[in-house]
Formats: sequence, C-alpha cells, structure tokens
Amino acid sequence: MEEIGHWINGKRVAGTSGRFSDVYNPATGEVQARVSLASPAEIDAAVADAAAAQLQWMKVNPQRRARVMMKFGALIERDMDKLAEALSKEHGKTIPDARGDVQRGLEVIEVCMGAPAFLKGEYTGDAGPGIDLYSMRQPLGVVAGITPFNFPAMIPLWKMGPALSSGNAMILKPSERTPTTALMLAELAQEAGLPDGVLQVINGDKEAVDTILDHETVQAVGFVGSTPIAQYIYGRAANNGKRAQCFGGAKNHMLIMPDADMDKAADALIGAGFGAAGERCMAISVAVPVGEEAANALIERLVPKIEKLKVGPYTGGDDVDYGPVITAAAKERILGLINSGVEQGASLVCDGRDFSLQGYEDGYFIGPSLFDNVTPEMDIYQQEVFGPVLSMVRAKTYEEALDLVIDNPYGNGTSIFTADGDTARDYAAKVNVGMVGINFPIPVPLSYYTFGGWKKSGFGDLNQYGPDAFRFYTKTKTVTARWFSGIKDGASLNFKALD
Ligand code: NAD
Repeated sequence: MEEIGHWINGKRVAGTSGRFSDVYNPATGEVQARVSLASPAEIDAAVADAAAAQLQWMKVNPQRRARVMMKFGALIERDMDKLAEALSKEHGKTIPDARGDVQRGLEVIEVCMGAPAFLKGEYTGDAGPGIDLYSMRQPLGVVAGITPFNFPAMIPLWKMGPALSSGNAMILKPSERTPTTALMLAELAQEAGLPDGVLQVINGDKEAVDTILDHETVQAVGFVGSTPIAQYIYGRAANNGKRAQCFGGAKNHMLIMPDADMDKAADALIGAGFGAAGERCMAISVAVPVGEEAANALIERLVPKIEKLKVGPYTGGDDVDYGPVITAAAKERILGLINSGVEQGASLVCDGRDFSLQGYEDGYFIGPSLFDNVTPEMDIYQQEVFGPVLSMVRAKTYEEALDLVIDNPYGNGTSIFTADGDTARDYAAKVNVGMVGINFPIPVPLSYYTFGGWKKSGFGDLNQYGPDAFRFYTKTKTVTARWFSGIKDGASLNFKALD
C-alpha cells in the first residue's frame, strides 16, 4: 500500500511517528494509501529548518521571489491534468471540478506574481524639519497553513502564495483525507526555484496542529475548516500570541424574488447546491423563495433537473455531475440529517437516501435531495449539511427573507436572484454576510479581491488572498528619520542600479 509522508527540506520523506491515517477512495470505499501523522519531534525539526531557510529567503528581493511565483504558476498549468487526477482520486470530485479547484488556486499565485506592489511601504518626506517618515512591510518569519479536505489544491495555494511571496517560510498541514495534492504542489514550487526548507508540507492530525499552535517559532496561523475547529484554533493561536485568521463553515442562502428569472435561478440552485456533492463552503444549501408563486415555480423546475443529475465516480465520464462525499462517517451524518428533516416535518420532495451505484455499492454516494417547507428550528436548517441536500425555506416577504439570513449564525456567502436593482442593492447593503452574489450563485471573489466570511464563518480581521493576505503575512515597521544638515559632503555622483 502506498505510504504518504511529508515534504521536508526539498524532498519527500517518510514519517517516523509510527502513526498513520487511512486515505480512502471515496468512490469505492477502499483504502488506497495511508498517510503519516507527524509527531511533535518531526514538526520541531521541520520548523527549525524552515526558520533557517526563511532568513535567506527574506533577503531575496521581492521581484525575484515574484519570479518564483511566475514559474510556479506556469508549472501548475503544465501539470493541471495530473493535479486534477490526483485530487479527484482522493476527494471524489469530477475532473472538470478538480481542474476548477486547481485553477482558482492558480489565480491567487498569478496575483502573487505582483507581490512587490503589495509589499510597498508608505513615505512622507519632510514630515518635520529634516524628518522623513516611512513604513515598510516585513515578513513574519515562519507561518503555518492548516487546510480542509474539500479544496486540496485551491486552499493550500491561497495560503502558500501570499505567505511565500512576502518572504515567509510556511509549514503547511493539509487535510489528512486529501494529502497528495499539497505534496505535488510543493514539488512544483521547488522546481520553480523555491529554496529548500521554505515550504514544509507536514501531514498530520490534531497532534500536529496543536504542536504548530503551541510552537514558539510559528508566528501566524491561517486556517480553513469547520467552525468549531476554526474557533478552537483561533483561540489557541491567539492565546499563544500568534496572528490567526480562521475560516469556518457556512450555511449559504439564496433569495429568489418573485421577479427573478426562474429558469436561471433553478439552474443556479442546481449547480450551487449539488456541485461537488455540496461539499463547498460556498455551496448554496438554503433556497429562500419570496412568495408562494416563486416557491412553486422553483419546485416545478428543480424536481426534473434533480432527477436528471448523474451521480458517479470521477472516472465515470464527462456526464457525471457530482461524486461521492468524503468519508463513510460524512455519509452517515448527512443521511442522519435528512432523516431528522423528515421526522421534524419538512417535505422531502427528492429523496437521495437510497441511492446506490452498481459496482460502487461501498462508495460514499448520496443521491440529490430536496426539502421543501423547512423551518428555522429544524436540524436540517441549523446545521451545516455539507452534502447534496438543498433545503427550501419559504418566505412571505423580502424583509422576512432578509431577516432569516441576518439571524443565521453563519455569514460566508449569499445570493439574491431578482430583476430589480433596488432590491439587489438593498440586500447587498444590509445583509451581514462576507460575500454576496447578485444573480450569481457562488460569489467567490476573484483573486485580486479577498475571500472571507462573517459571523461564525470567519475568525480574525483580515481575509484570505488579495491585499488582505499581504497584510496578514507581513508586519509593518514605521521609521521616523531625522538627518541633520551638513552631511552632503562626500555624496556619490554615480548613477547605480539599486540592487
Ligand atoms: P475540519 O475542521 O475537520 O478540518 C480542517 C483541518 O483541521 C484539517 O487539516 C484537520 O486535520 C484539522 N483538524 C480537524 N480536527 C482538528 C482538531 N480537533 N484539532 C486540531 N485540528 C483539527 O474541516 P474539513 O472537514 O476538512 O473541511 C470541511 C469544512 O471546512 C466545512 O465546514 C467547510 O464549510 C469548511 N470550509 C470553509 C471554507 C472557508 O473559506 N470558510 C473553505 C472550505 C471549507
């Protein structure tokens, strides 16, 4: 059986802890590899080497570091198919979706090719007599990224790009369920010219994470995962004096106003609700039609579309719409939530519970499920399902729909479908959610903006990627300089390059 280790000091190494976690093929339920779970001693050694490597890397001028990003981006593009295949094999998502996963990460690397522009300081000449005031952004040192299973390429790249191009070294701890892609990315970063030790990919579980959180040398932690873990990591990292940005789970609502284009809204709900088996933090899991007419029009359109969805393995051909969920435990939890919805009185319009695929009976597949008449106190509404389940909560008015979203504890993404600009503007202004789509179902901002949820979807004050990420991964130093008069003698008259 394949054994997946770590990427330390520029090479793949086997783990030495003797502890492992199984890596499954979610389509078949078979164990396809086992991944080493790093011990505290392995992490200590990796951090010490990263700290030494960082001292050199921070001296490489920003433009040269950006050139490494340029090559890295080109290599990711070159290996797009290989990365997508490896990712699908562990995650289960379709190949086109896996390519999207890599692509949305690559786009952040593309912005990091311009990192020097984000790393510039400020300058005020003659702030006082002979006094100049300026600020500079300096890397933090060794920082950590801890990432979830559901975007094995995109989210590690969101972490690596800004951290490394700012001159930091990074300890990346990918999800133990989907560990391979991050190791492949580390290899590509090395091929692109990243010095050994600057990026250490360490596989592990809670023990590894806690060691990172308590490690004196680690200056900052960027986390993405479920809300309880995000909150835990934020607290422990902050308690240890580290910077932390921790992004958590979601319950994303889409409002459908009576004037919306119902065909487009239904298509959007299908894609955003069932794509990647609903395992996206920006998935739409709650549809909120305003008025009975809109609700009925949607149900009428959604049901035949849902019945046509093709669920299967990533190897099942181009017409597979989505794959299995990640683990047997995830499948069981999702089925339990569907059962709770039925017990608590929601109408299960499409029932995916008994879905089975010939030849893949042990895979973690769930058919698409649609609930109507869901109410806010039901478990199916209160919990993040993270599966192919769409819940419809009917609202009588726009205000009622808006309040539903405002009162929800999560605030990652939301969307409104309407033909009325005034309603759309009002919604975007009032809703307390970090990312808003207008006639756009999954509003993941492009890489030169930033990504972050509000409320229980995000802990910390700076977002991921874009300008915020460069602020997160650098410290500002402000210099007040006074030069007394009379020191111009001996100035050099030669015109020299600055580097
Ligand atoms: P998870 O919280 O189980 O795991 C995330 C990371 O934390 C992994 O690396 C894991 O090894 C580590 N971890 C797990 N339990 C831990 C513990 N007790 N102590 C310390 N570390 C621990 O999340 P997941 O199941 O991998 O990912 C799915 C979740 O991530 C969903 O809730 C989804 O909404 C969320 N997510 C959020 C965003 C976002 O940007 N807000 C993006 C993607 C996914």
